[in-house]
Amino acid sequence: IMTSSPTYLPVLERVAEEIGHTPGRGRSADYIPALAARDARAFGMAVAELDGTVYGVGDWREPFSAQSITKVFTLALDLAREGDELWEHVGREPSGNPFNSLVQLEYENGIPRNPFINAGALVVTDRLQTRTGDAAGELLGFLRAESGNPELDFDEEVAASETVNGDRNAALAHFMASYGNIDNPVPVLLEQYFRQCSITASCADLALATRFLARHGLRADGTRLLASRQAKQVNAVMLTCGTYDAAGDFAYRVGLPGKSGVGGGIIAVVPGRCALCVWSPGLDERGNSVAGVAALDRFTTLTDLSVF
Ligand code: GLN
Repeated sequence: IMTSSPTYLPVLERVAEEIGHTPGRGRSADYIPALAARDARAFGMAVAELDGTVYGVGDWREPFSAQSITKVFTLALDLAREGDELWEHVGREPSGNPFNSLVQLEYENGIPRNPFINAGALVVTDRLQTRTGDAAGELLGFLRAESGNPELDFDEEVAASETVNGDRNAALAHFMASYGNIDNPVPVLLEQYFRQCSITASCADLALATRFLARHGLRADGTRLLASRQAKQVNAVMLTCGTYDAAGDFAYRVGLPGKSGVGGGIIAVVPGRCALCVWSPGLDERGNSVAGVAALDRFTTLTDLSVF
């Protein structure tokens, strides 16, 4: 196997140094204890090149809670199975509202705006659950295979506290079920969704797992998960909806398809070039990593590697 040299390592080192000098990095998520306990100032960033060469800076091998980053992978896994029928059950427009908002659902007949707000992700997980009988297990298997890391797993403590603090997600699921847009019993769906959110992985793991979107749908083993057209679509939805009500600002600053999670991680795709993952737990008021967005902003500025 030919591996390339770590092309962007000097840039990552420069970005990490600049970020290290930036004060005011937001606050760790505090809705569950396991996330609140993480140091807001931790920072790691990794690049995975198309051939699987992976490298990084800072805490790039430190596992963290993937949370909403997993929404990209469940979307891809479900799209691969059911194709365009999915879009009859979830939209693909930015919501302009917080990730856990209920407000648009009533006006839009229980059809969430996009697959990356919680309501939309619940629909996607529900549909994947119907098709596989084990949505979270399917997701974990995919992440293990793509990252080459068989140790990736759920964090049972995080999944349990998500359940205890899950009233809002339960409300979203029940509300959509009242419109007939949820297939499985709500408790079954919520268990799958909370397990999904609890997956723990490092920047290295998640950059590698995101690589299929830089490879126009091709998995690590060379088989195809998505048609090239579908990879384009997932990347487009990431660009427009991946950072919730900050997606416009993220596109403006970073210029790449990206998806954040409240664990402080963000994945990003440079189609045809590489996949990235950055992690720093300090969040802004919209739930996106402050240092993570800043680092991606610097990376695309220094390399000219945006989709624009
Ligand atoms: N577990 C979180 C929730 O469902 C995930 C949200 C996120 O990462 N933005 O509220």
